[in-house]
Amino acid sequence: MRLSLFLVILILLFSLPHPAIAKNFSTVIIDPGHGGNDKGSNWYGIYEKNLTLDLAKRVQRLLKSKGVRTVMTRSTDTYVALDKRAAIANRNSHFVFVSIHFNGHKNTSYRGIETFYYPGSSKGKKLAGKIQHELGTRIKTKNRGIKPARLKVLRLTKGPAVLIECGFLSNRWENKRCNASWLREIIAEEIVQGIMAYR
Ligand SMILES: [Zn+2]
Repeated sequence: MRLSLFLVILILLFSLPHPAIAKNFSTVIIDPGHGGNDKGSNWYGIYEKNLTLDLAKRVQRLLKSKGVRTVMTRSTDTYVALDKRAAIANRNSHFVFVSIHFNGHKNTSYRGIETFYYPGSSKGKKLAGKIQHELGTRIKTKNRGIKPARLKVLRLTKGPAVLIECGFLSNRWENKRCNASWLREIIAEEIVQGIMAYR
């Protein structure tokens, strides 16, 4: 009787999931850039705020399917200030912060994908590297690499934080692609692959 109880306990112990502490994070904060009155980049009738929200929801769905806890800083078309976004993130423990944006520039020949981290954040840099490494592996794009940037939302966020610029809406060719849902699905899958590689 005692032996069987011991065996039951042993089986239970080994069937438990690996403790979260062994991983680099347990929660992903997904931050869709802009929203509400803040449209973000606005080129050829396409608003950045709509694409960031759509892409963020795709990232959330894919992470959830892998059993990862997620928190969105916004899930509707509303304005959320940058310090509020960081505060939403900082309520959690053991998290990474992934901000999603699309770029715009008056030089409309600029195109490609780049990922920013806060200068001096080695974990942010590592996370940015893992994500950027996956981006553009399945679609033709210009790899603009990872860059340090003194962005407010990255500075205020306590966990490892990155901001991904997923393409230039100011470039007609890239604008059309970013507006296509098949492309955003691939980018979402690549972002999730990068996040899981960091984990
Ligand atoms: Zn933006």
